[in-house]
Amino acid sequence: MAQAHKLDCESVSDTCRFIIQSENEEEAVELAQKHMKEVHGQEYTEDELQNDHMQVV
Ligand SMILES: [Zn+2]
Repeated sequence: MAQAHKLDCESVSDTCRFIIQSENEEEAVELAQKHMKEVHGQEYTEDELQNDHMQVV
């Protein structure tokens, strides 16, 4: 079964319910990085997102 990489923005923000889920890790991280920057004005490195915020489901 394929694994998906998921970012649940609710774990980062109380008000945002944005969820990214993709089987392509690169794509998921890229989308997450973009979302964090555009919506929350926060810059995360790929490592930070992967290690601290993203889950493999
Ligand atoms: Zn968000």
